[in-house]
Amino acid sequence: MVIGGGPAGVFAAIEAKRRDPQAAVALISDEPCEPYERPPLSKAVLLGTASAADAPIAGPKGLAGHGVILECNTRCTAIDRAAQNIVTASGRRLAYDALVIATGSVVRQIPVLPLGAPHVHYLRTEAHAQVLAGELKTAQHLVVVGGGLIGLEVAASAAELGVKVTVIEMLPRVLARVCDEDTSARVHDAHRRHGVDIHLGTALADAQPEPDARIALKTSTGEILMADLVVVGAGAIPDDRLAAAAGLRTDNGIVVDAHCVTSDPKIFAAGDVVRFPGPHGLVRREDWRHAQDQGAVAGRNAAGANDEYRSVPSFWSEQFDLYIQGVGSPPAKPDRKVRRKGAGTSQISFELTGPYIAYALGTNAQRDIGTVRRLIERRIAVDPAALADPTIPLAEFLKVKT
Ligand SMILES: Cc1cc2nc3c(=O)[nH]c(=O)nc-3n(C[C@H](O)[C@H](O)[C@H](O)COP(=O)(O)OP(=O)(O)OC[C@H]3O[C@@H](n4cnc5c(N)ncnc54)[C@H](O)[C@@H]3O)c2cc1C
Repeated sequence: MVIGGGPAGVFAAIEAKRRDPQAAVALISDEPCEPYERPPLSKAVLLGTASAADAPIAGPKGLAGHGVILECNTRCTAIDRAAQNIVTASGRRLAYDALVIATGSVVRQIPVLPLGAPHVHYLRTEAHAQVLAGELKTAQHLVVVGGGLIGLEVAASAAELGVKVTVIEMLPRVLARVCDEDTSARVHDAHRRHGVDIHLGTALADAQPEPDARIALKTSTGEILMADLVVVGAGAIPDDRLAAAAGLRTDNGIVVDAHCVTSDPKIFAAGDVVRFPGPHGLVRREDWRHAQDQGAVAGRNAAGANDEYRSVPSFWSEQFDLYIQGVGSPPAKPDRKVRRKGAGTSQISFELTGPYIAYALGTNAQRDIGTVRRLIERRIAVDPAALADPTIPLAEFLKVKT
């Protein structure tokens, strides 16, 4: 049994069924549809060029095509560990032999801009994206609170639709939590070129609805921004409520071991909702690849395997003509930083620990980043000078015997 229809839950269910074809595998999702990919929600879905139905996580035949039973519109409200049952909102009890919790994360709300207030948007689900896409069609001025990945992707999409966009970000640069200064500056510049006005070092002080249906946003610098549409991108928090209520160990997320096992050996967890052992202690990640890979391990282990989760972390973001990707774990103190300039706007910044790539941040370097991932996975030593030389294909490093 799997709770949650994001990539972690879907891959857990598919892999559990693949590992044990005789087992009945069911996925419980509180959303109304076949599980879909979230990354297009802030991009193609807002631009109106795709819908969630175009991107089912389980592929064109859905979960049924993998022999997994999907229960949509079904919220799990409790886990009865003693009886090995889950309880649904309608009071049904469903028995499990092994359970995977993949409840993901929920948006972090700003109290003065509550979810559900008129013209205030948070973006997590297809339903959120469709309502926002509708309002963007007539919006004059969008204010985005938060210059992180989702806030900036929404800003880029809105600007491409011709909406005037202002972003307020309290830190001194955009994407400060995920990018180096150079990449932040490139992203900021792309937004500036497309007319997005970004106010750095600026927090939200207050927000009040106006009689004309606009919202007056007061910033920490004393400025008043009048918006007819507000999007809050203030991050997400792990949805570990179900697990905590069931007495599982939680600590800003469900705590699991390297095999995705929670404090109950019959219960596994994966994706945005977990904290798992990383190279420097427990970590939590909120990205698609992690959710997919960890979900797959949790599912296999729930079906009897004993796999360890050790995927190389990565993320991506698309804004205007920039495709930004990070792969690896940034070291606290890299021994060396190397920059590799490719053709046009393509570039990768590497952080090395000894002769090994620990982390790479690329812009418009999709193919090379795939090779970098393999270099990190195989722990191949590299020569920094050669790494910086764009005339030497990165694939050459893979030919070295390990
Ligand atoms: C707008 C947006 C854009 C993104 N873009 C990118 C990107 O470009 N690149 C990238 O790497 N990552 C991106 N991400 C992040 C990525 O989508 C998430 O990390 C990933 O979806 C996490 O997967 P998950 O399965 O752990 O959880 P989720 O995808 O959050 O899925 C959890 C599911 O569980 C359901 N659920 C929760 N509680 C219950 C319950 N009690 N009963 C039943 N169902 C329940 C939820 O409704 C949800 O459907 C984006 C996220 C968003 C929101």
